[in-house]
Amino acid sequence: MEKSLVLIKPDAVERNLIGKIIGRIEDSGMKLLALRMLLMGRKLAEKHYAVHADKPFFKGLVSYITSGPIVACVFGGENAVEVIRGVMGATDPAKAAPGTIRKAFAENIERNSVHGSDAPETAKEEIALFFSDKEIFG
Ligand code: UDP
Ligand code: MG
Repeated sequence: MEKSLVLIKPDAVERNLIGKIIGRIEDSGMKLLALRMLLMGRKLAEKHYAVHADKPFFKGLVSYITSGPIVACVFGGENAVEVIRGVMGATDPAKAAPGTIRKAFAENIERNSVHGSDAPETAKEEIALFFSDKEIFG
């Protein structure tokens, strides 16, 4: 079964959107396999977003993602990565399709409520940053 890492980001946790976001992903047919609330430290944030280390938004992104608690989840299902990216919508909420999580909830291109892995291989690497094998039920 394909897996994807989902993070419910600080802006969404702050605004009591955890249940709504998990519900939308469950409603897409994906199965919740692992779940934890945590405060991301700087080191974990820099590892998780290492691919963006050279981008102009990197510093702000690390500061934002470590600014308050997040909820980390593993979801599994057929084409989990692609299905969840679809439910999330485009990175910039101004460009996100109607009915997507980011269209409904994101505040702006940075505070966009949710993270989802962008490929099955990156999903494996990302999941390993947050969960051990025995914490994943599937
Ligand atoms: N981001 C940002 N400014 C940008 C692009 C991205 O602050 O111009 C943040 C945003 O929170 C985004 C994250 O960096 O979700 C990772 O960017 P990516 O391009 O990987 O978007 P995603 O995969 O999350 O849609
Ligand atoms: Mg990405």
